[in-house]
This record gives sequence, C-alpha cells and structure tokens, in this order.
Amino acid sequence: MNKKLYVISGSSGVGKGTVIKGFLNRNPEFILSVSCTTRLPREGEVDGKNYFFLSKEEFQNCIDENKFLEWAEFAGNRYGTKKKYIEQCLEEGKNLILEIDTQGALQVKEQMKEAVLIFIAPPSLSTLENRLRGRHTEDEATIQKRLDEVKEELKRAENFDYKIINDDLERAICELEKIIGDTKC
Ligand code: 5GP
Repeated sequence: MNKKLYVISGSSGVGKGTVIKGFLNRNPEFILSVSCTTRLPREGEVDGKNYFFLSKEEFQNCIDENKFLEWAEFAGNRYGTKKKYIEQCLEEGKNLILEIDTQGALQVKEQMKEAVLIFIAPPSLSTLENRLRGRHTEDEATIQKRLDEVKEELKRAENFDYKIINDDLERAICELEKIIGDTKC
C-alpha cells in the first residue's frame, strides 16, 4: 500500500531536529529517510543510518545517472534523496519523513504533488539572530551569511503547505502530529 510522503524543512538553529525526534519517539510507525551527502561524517554518525556518505565523484555519478529525486548544495556540501530508496519505502507501506532543505523540498513537490511540505519556522528573525549570537561559535560575517540564508528559506517556505512556529517544543510536536493526522491516507 502506498503511503504519503512528509517533507520537513526549517532554518538551521530552529530546533527542527528536536521537533522531528520528539515526533518519531511518539510515532514509531514513521521512519526518517536516509539521504546521501558529500559531507564528512560527524563523530558518532554511521554510514547507512544517519546518511549514505558518498565521495564527490560518486555523488556526481548519481546526478548524471538521474538517480536523485532531489538534490541541493548546502553550506558547501551536496545532499540528495535517491528516487529508488523513496519508491521502495513507499511501496513497502512505510510512513516516510524527509528532513531536507527548502530547495530540495520544492523539487520533491514538483515531482510528487501528493507530498506534504511542512516548514518549521523560528518565532521571529530576531529570536533566531539572538540564538545564533548566543552560541558564540560564529563570527559576525558568518552570522550575517546565515541570516541571509534564513531570509531566502523563509521566502521559499511561502510555497509550503504548512508552517509550524517553534516557540514551544511540546506545542510544535503536537501541531506536527495534528497536520500528519489530518492529511494521512
Ligand atoms: P547537516 O549537514 O547538518 O546534517 O544538514 C544540513 C542541511 O542539509 C539540513 O538543512 C538538512 O535538512 C539538509 N539535508 C539533509 N539531507 C538532505 C537531502 O537529502 N536533500 C536536501 N536537499 N537537503 C538535505
């Protein structure tokens, strides 16, 4: 039985991963799609579980062979979702969530109109700015670049089906459960 595909995007620093994790803990029948990336594994990340880690050449070959449902460049690395992987999961009747960037999400929608696009937004741009500055990990130029990227993402998010404002984790998870509950087939 074919299931629906849920695509979740959100600006970095917005806590999108925490919302998704909270949702998956309470709804174990959903699985998170595993993407391909050219970025190096972070400590503790496992190939095939967190990502399929590909070399630049391997990734380029997949593009040339039209193997991606979508792909995008993000912060100097490439990320993509394999068509075959998604088709197999849906054919097996799996409830699938894709956590990908906004460029990739819009590409998915172009090809699969039934996909549901959900954007997790910061309460306001100034809240996000404060969070980024509060980390004290990036210099001013990097913070400005991140904020410009966020503005671009917010523009793309206008074409999403739903927007969740992450001002409270529990409320955001409940809202995600409601959207998915209302649109489930
Ligand atoms: P990270 O390197 O922190 O794991 O991910 C960086 C960004 O890449 C995040 O915004 C994440 O949602 C996005 N991303 C992860 N996998 C994919 C993918 O398959 N396609 C696209 N377009 N973006 C992805």
